[in-house]
Amino acid sequence: MHAPSLPDRSIEAYAAVTERDLLERLRELADTLSEARILHINSTATGGGVAELLRSIVPVCTDLGIETDWLVMDADDDFFEVTKAVHNGLQGSGEPVTDEMKVIYREVTATNAAEIEAEYDLVLAHDPQTLGMLERLDEQLPNAPIIWRCHVDLTEPVEDYLAFVSAYTDPIDHAIFSRSAYAVVDVPATSIVSPSIDPITEKNRPLEDAELAAERDRLDPLSFDAPVVTQVSRFDPWKDQFGTLEAYRTAKKAVPELQLALAGGMAGDDPEGLELYEQVAAEAVDDPDVHTLTDLPDGAINALQRLSDVVVQKSLREGFGLVVAEALWKRTPVVGSTVGGIPLQVEDGRNGYLVEPDDAIGAGNRIVDLLENDERRRSFGDNARERVREQFLLPRQLVDLLEIFVDSLGL
Ligand code: UDP
Repeated sequence: MHAPSLPDRSIEAYAAVTERDLLERLRELADTLSEARILHINSTATGGGVAELLRSIVPVCTDLGIETDWLVMDADDDFFEVTKAVHNGLQGSGEPVTDEMKVIYREVTATNAAEIEAEYDLVLAHDPQTLGMLERLDEQLPNAPIIWRCHVDLTEPVEDYLAFVSAYTDPIDHAIFSRSAYAVVDVPATSIVSPSIDPITEKNRPLEDAELAAERDRLDPLSFDAPVVTQVSRFDPWKDQFGTLEAYRTAKKAVPELQLALAGGMAGDDPEGLELYEQVAAEAVDDPDVHTLTDLPDGAINALQRLSDVVVQKSLREGFGLVVAEALWKRTPVVGSTVGGIPLQVEDGRNGYLVEPDDAIGAGNRIVDLLENDERRRSFGDNARERVREQFLLPRQLVDLLEIFVDSLGL
C-alpha cells in the first residue's frame, strides 16, 4: 500500500459556495470525530472518479481535525485485469469468473491487507478492488467498523460476479451506494450518498478571462469559434465513445461546422483504456473535426467543460458520473443517457436532456436543439449551476459521510 501525496485544503475556502449552516454542521461532526482515526483504501491514486473524490475529501477532513489516511493498493496489471472484469461483470457484462482470477484477487488483496499496521477506528474501503482486504483488516482492527463505499452501477450485475463479490462482504458493517437501486448486496446497514465535485480544485474553480484564453490556445486546433460538443471520460466501453461519435455525426448533418472533443485519460487501475482509445481514434481518423485529447491537465479539462456548447455523457452504465456535475457546475448543458447517476443530475428539459442509452440519433437531435437555441443553452446553464450548488458540492457529501462515521462509531 502507498499513501498518495495530497494538496492542502482549508474548509474556509468553501464558504463562498456553501451555506454557513452546512459548514457549521461539518465542524460539529468533526468535533465529534476528533479522536477518531479514519482509513480510506482504494486501488488508484489517479484517474477516475474515486481518486478525484479522495483527493479532496481526505485533505478537507485533515483540515477539519479528523485524523484521516488514504492508502492505495499496490498491484500489477494481472490484478487490474481481474478487477476490471469484476467491474464490468457487476455492471452487466463478462465471461464467467475463473479459479485463476480468484487466486490472483485473493493473493494481491491479502498482501496489501498485511501491509496495514497502524491502528484505525474506522475503515472506509472503496469499490470491489478492496473487498478481499476486509477479512484480514477486520481481524487486525476488531473494534473498527468497516464501511464499503461502492461507486459501481449495480442495476444489472452478472450473477457470477455478484456471487464473487458477495463472498467477501461478511466483514462489512455498513455499505454506501450512490443510488438505492444499487443496494443489492446483503450487509447489515446501507446508506445512499450522492458523490460530489470539489468547486475549488483546478478542475472546477472559476477561471479568469486570461486563464481561459490561455487554455483555449492550448486546446488548438480545437476552435471555440465554431460549435463544440465534448465528452470527458476514461476510454472504457461503458462510456460509449462510439455512441457519442454517432450522436455527433447525426448533429453534424444539421450543424456542419460542429466539432467533437473526446477527452479521456487512462486510470491507473484500468488496463483496457489504451486499446479502446486506439479504436476510437482510428474510427475518427478521417474527420478533422473530431479531436481525441488524452491526459489533459485539470486546467484544460476545466476550460474545455466551460467553453463547450454542449457536454455529452452517453454512458451505457454509470455509477454516478462526476463529469456530468463538473459540466453542469460550469453552466454547460448536458445531453446524457438515462443510466446510473446521470438522471440524478440531468433534469430533462431544465439543465440538459436525457436519452435512452442506445439512442445515439436522439442524442444527436438533442445536441442540435441546444446548439440552435442560444437562449435555451443559457437558461439551462443557469439551472445546471443551481442544481449542482444545491446537491452535488463537496461539503454536502462530507456531511453525509461524517454522519455515517459518527453513527457507526456510536458517538
Ligand atoms: N477525468 C480527467 N481526465 C480525463 C478523463 C476523466 O480528469 O481525461 C476525470 C473527470 O474530470 C472526473 C473523473 O475523471 O473527475 C471521472 O469520474 P466519473 O465519475 O465521471 O467516471 P469514472 O471514471 O469514475 O467512471
